[in-house]
Amino acid sequence: MLKKMTITTKIMIAMLIGLLVGSLINAFAGDVAFIQTYLVNGLFHVIGKAFVNALKMLVVPLVTFSLICGVCGIGDVNTLGRVGIKAFLLYLLTTAMAITLALTLAILVSPGQGFEQAAGTQSFSPKPAPPLTDVFINIVPSNPINAFAEGNMLQIIFFVILFGIAMLMAGEPGKQLAEGAEKLNEVMMKVVTLVMDFAPYGVFFLMAKTFSEQGIGLILPMIGYFSVVIACLLIHAFVTFPLLITFFAKLNPVTFIQKMRPAQIFAFSTASSNATIPVTLQVVEKRMGVNNATASFTVPLGATINMDGTAIMQGVATVFIANVYGIDLGLTDYITVVGMSILASIGTAGVPGVGLIMLAMVFNQVGLPVEGIGLILGVDRILDMVRTAVNVTGDATVSCIVARGENEIDEAIFNDPDAGTITDVELPHKQTA
Ligand code: ASP
Repeated sequence: MLKKMTITTKIMIAMLIGLLVGSLINAFAGDVAFIQTYLVNGLFHVIGKAFVNALKMLVVPLVTFSLICGVCGIGDVNTLGRVGIKAFLLYLLTTAMAITLALTLAILVSPGQGFEQAAGTQSFSPKPAPPLTDVFINIVPSNPINAFAEGNMLQIIFFVILFGIAMLMAGEPGKQLAEGAEKLNEVMMKVVTLVMDFAPYGVFFLMAKTFSEQGIGLILPMIGYFSVVIACLLIHAFVTFPLLITFFAKLNPVTFIQKMRPAQIFAFSTASSNATIPVTLQVVEKRMGVNNATASFTVPLGATINMDGTAIMQGVATVFIANVYGIDLGLTDYITVVGMSILASIGTAGVPGVGLIMLAMVFNQVGLPVEGIGLILGVDRILDMVRTAVNVTGDATVSCIVARGENEIDEAIFNDPDAGTITDVELPHKQTA
């Protein structure tokens, strides 16, 4: 029975059990030293963290080999430029839609009116966000090895695309290298499968750790803010994206949502679009049939510059904090918020909690008190998980739309429910004669 389940089902079950175990510990064993030391901060922490490391370990080599194959697959610089510009503009557009939705709903519901400051509000002093000029300058790596070592995604993308174009220009030697990259990419995909086989355990420990620390008690005083953010995230994920998928990618939105599930689960449990890149790539290419030439480019780019879920949180948080402090925001302020959130999502990487740093940038711009962020800190971890799942769904949506425009999507794969399902890995064993 357990053997027959797909890995996604197993991961989902593991996620639910983890959530349950974590919540039970939070409710009943919050101050049992033994459980806290050996389970929550011991076993759960160690295995969960190690699993996230294993996912992150895949990102740089996978993106590199896959993007080289992608650039060589596209084969000419004009098409490459067109794909890049389309993806970039669509990412901006979906983020603008997200933040507009969030502001509209938040203004209508007006969370934070008459808000009583709950005990246990944490103080927040933001890390300084990089100035925007630096964001653009830093797309060009002064040292590519450094970019690879630090996993700086925009710099890696920039260098690899340049390198891929040079491979195309170099003729025969470039061709040989491209064949090598294709083989390396294939092997790397196998490494992904190996790590995935461990995913149900990894996800269980991650969830158990998070929820043993995050009780429902933190959410209750913040229920207004929390539910508006969640409502916007759900509308964006289950209405906006499916509409875009139907009208612009001309694909079945229900199939899209079903196939998106594994990537969403990983995004949810790791709260990092970057760490989820290997899964998003696998889903977009193998389950949805988007050609590697498009996906290898749009997915890592999206994980770095496209954060619709994060923009939603920022929109709602802005209205919430303005209400709590009794500050009136005008139309120009709201337009500034839209612009700032878009720019902020380009300038910051998809890693846990970065949304709050971006929020500090937005607040500075419209003159809201940055300490106000302390109010929403307590519920941010859970919202981070949900919004990251929305972020990666946006990456896949745009990948499908761009691929449709370029005729780079295989509908037979998209419509086949079993295409690319990850099954249990058969490890090779030495044959004994
Ligand atoms: N955790 C989010 C991501 O990786 C970013 C954020 O909202 O903090 O996409």
